[in-house]
Amino acid sequence: MPNPSLLILAGDGIGPEVMAEVRKVIAWYADHGTAFDVSEDFVGGAAYDGYGTPLADETLAKAMAADAVLLGAVGGPKYDTLDFALKPERGLLKLRKELDLYANLRPAQCFDALADFSSLKREVVAGLDIMILRELTSGMYFGEPRGIFTEGNERVGINTHRYTESEIARAARSAFQLARQRGNKVCSMEKANVMEAGILWREVVQKIHDTEFPDVQLSHMYADNGAMQLVRAPKQFDVILTDNLFGDILSDAAAMLTGSLGMLPSASLGAAGPNGYPRAMYEPVHGSAPDIAGQGKANPIACILSFGMALRYSFALGAQADLLEAAVNKVLADGLRTADLLGPEGGTPISTSQMGDAIIAAL
Ligand code: ATP
Ligand code: MG
Repeated sequence: MPNPSLLILAGDGIGPEVMAEVRKVIAWYADHGTAFDVSEDFVGGAAYDGYGTPLADETLAKAMAADAVLLGAVGGPKYDTLDFALKPERGLLKLRKELDLYANLRPAQCFDALADFSSLKREVVAGLDIMILRELTSGMYFGEPRGIFTEGNERVGINTHRYTESEIARAARSAFQLARQRGNKVCSMEKANVMEAGILWREVVQKIHDTEFPDVQLSHMYADNGAMQLVRAPKQFDVILTDNLFGDILSDAAAMLTGSLGMLPSASLGAAGPNGYPRAMYEPVHGSAPDIAGQGKANPIACILSFGMALRYSFALGAQADLLEAAVNKVLADGLRTADLLGPEGGTPISTSQMGDAIIAAL
């Protein structure tokens, strides 16, 4: 059997810097029995520079054929004056749309050595390991009608919160499958008390549960209460399943329970691709960070943990993913810190590549 394939799109700013460290990790795994066929291409500003478009058709074709895509970050001040259609972000959005990645997974995991970084008390977050699944292709951000219209003698801004049964069902199935690999618990969040799409959401999630996943523990919560519970007692959750709008807000809030942007990975999954693996793109939550690009200061851990998510969620290599997380945990416990991880008491930061090397040593 051929090795599974990975397409690396490092992108702009600190993207290529953090991806260089991921390449070291991929090479380490190849030396230890887990090999991938890796190819590379440009996306975002780098693709505009190289091909005159933020996502070339050939690149999109490679992404459609790959078993998983690893993305760095796109954008930067150099591209601010480009026409809307040529902006780096359009490349990323087109990629997500064409791959039809409907389940966005954002873990909020608290590494013990960083528990004091949280805006919450150590005991509230120590050991935290939750996952938010945000529906990514529908709902308030896409529903029609949308626009700014004129009604009588004033304007009205309209967005439509729209969900079909099948859109809800596929997100729910992803959440239940995910829960089976974790703590076997799903909490679904909507506003069924005031929104029709919320009523349908709750009904469909319950039906998918009862007919296909009765072994998974399911609860429902109104999203406003969910936000409160998330900052009050986040450890009560395992998988949180929610829609596009609420997921956008809840996942950002959950992220900050655990500290730096430089630590946060993400995955976006779709239907089965050409070789049976789900279509998938893995990327750090952070952007291209132009303020620190080119200085060797970026924290590569978010991007490295994104590769860890690929191991776990695309290729069912849970033990290998556990090993990578343990290596990250060890370097942090040893006190190694990139600049973004230094607290008010200061200390001496290590560089992007030193952090990558330390993780390899820990592996
Ligand atoms: P985008 O619009 O692409 O999300 P942004 O400006 O909102 O970009 P980032 O590019 O993520 O956000 O940067 C936000 C801040 O976090 C910056 O000060 C940046 O230096 C810092 N930052 C982001 N990622 C990292 C990282 N991996 N390591 C260290 N600092 C980071
Ligand atoms: Mg941003």
